[in-house]
Amino acid sequence: MRRNRNRCRLAAARPRPRMQWLALVASLGVACASTAPKTRPGAARHAPAIRVALAEGVLQLELQVEGRASLLCCGGRTFEWPEPGSLRATFTDGQIELDLGEQGTVRAAGTVLLEPVDDSSRVRFGTHSYRGLMEILMKAEALTLVNEINLESYLRGVVPWEIGWHGSRRKAAVEAQAIAARTYAFKRLGQYAELGFDVYADVTDQVYLGTTREDRVANDAIAATRGVVLTREDSLVEAYYSSTCGGHTARIEAVWPKPPQPYLRGRRDAPDTGGRSFCASSRHFRWSESWSGAGIESTLSQTLPQELDLPADSSIGVLLDVRVAARDESGRVRVLEVETSQQVYGVQGDRIRWVLRPRDRPILRSTMFKLELERRDGILVRVVVRGGGNGHGVGMCQMGALEMARRGFAHASILAHYYPGAALETLY
Ligand SMILES: [Zn+2]
Repeated sequence: MRRNRNRCRLAAARPRPRMQWLALVASLGVACASTAPKTRPGAARHAPAIRVALAEGVLQLELQVEGRASLLCCGGRTFEWPEPGSLRATFTDGQIELDLGEQGTVRAAGTVLLEPVDDSSRVRFGTHSYRGLMEILMKAEALTLVNEINLESYLRGVVPWEIGWHGSRRKAAVEAQAIAARTYAFKRLGQYAELGFDVYADVTDQVYLGTTREDRVANDAIAATRGVVLTREDSLVEAYYSSTCGGHTARIEAVWPKPPQPYLRGRRDAPDTGGRSFCASSRHFRWSESWSGAGIESTLSQTLPQELDLPADSSIGVLLDVRVAARDESGRVRVLEVETSQQVYGVQGDRIRWVLRPRDRPILRSTMFKLELERRDGILVRVVVRGGGNGHGVGMCQMGALEMARRGFAHASILAHYYPGAALETLY
């Protein structure tokens, strides 16, 4: 594949399981109807590797080696780090200049590999340490840093950052998170092949911060569910999840311009017998935001052109009204209309959260909200948004899952609640 064009000798000789795994994912059989994971006959014993972008489009990278590692570059040359040491890589004249400290400076015309010699070795980048192989790639006249790691080890750096650090009483929710995160990652192997990696290490995909603050409960949950993924008919499911659904999960097609899925159709987040929502104790279950008339006009004058791809110097005119034009059955706003002296702007689905940007948050917590407008002499003087939940609301509600675990539900029951009709399958 193109992204391996410049790989060094040792890396080229490494087993590359990716294509086998992609083939297996493509050939998943009909999902089992029971909640007990089904193991595929002849399933592989090993997890695939996943390539995580830790930095992209930078001109310089600083790495610290903790333990022993080998650097492979420059026509097959190998440099060893018997002691902790540092490495600075700089993009210079179409090459990677490597400052190796006491070992001098060399230039690489292609990909640079930094490979730990033993399991205890780590490479530090920024404030975090990572297991596995580091690759420095040249892409678009800049450097990309990729951490290639076994998918199960990757999950150890994802699960606690996505669902938090919890006691063993809530382990079933952490197991459900591990399965959802594994399924999400598996489904995205190869998604950015032309860029040289599979996933970003932030909320674009899943937050991954290496070995920093690994958690015993999360590690146990990952091990207990090793290789288990969510499937539906011939495919891995789209295992989306978010913090707090506000009492009702969302239909995927109401949030993003994506096709509907039977297991992402939105449902009450409460026991079948009724009662309080599972996520009712979340601090984001109910909230409010407010703007003065001038404040909301100022906010919309910036966010509307950004989100509607209008020319950067566009003026939206004088703000006259903000109203909800359509909702879905969960109570989320599907279409928000902003009327100004120039025109009526329509904003759909999750993008509404970027348009109604609060003063002290990057985006509105959710689209599940009611609008209250206050006018004086016909002029808009105050806008209040009273809302529920935090996040897009599609798939598993993490706060709800934690409450279900506290009440004694097993991970299979939690996943059946949030991804109805999906099955559990053990891939390795
Ligand atoms: Zn919920």
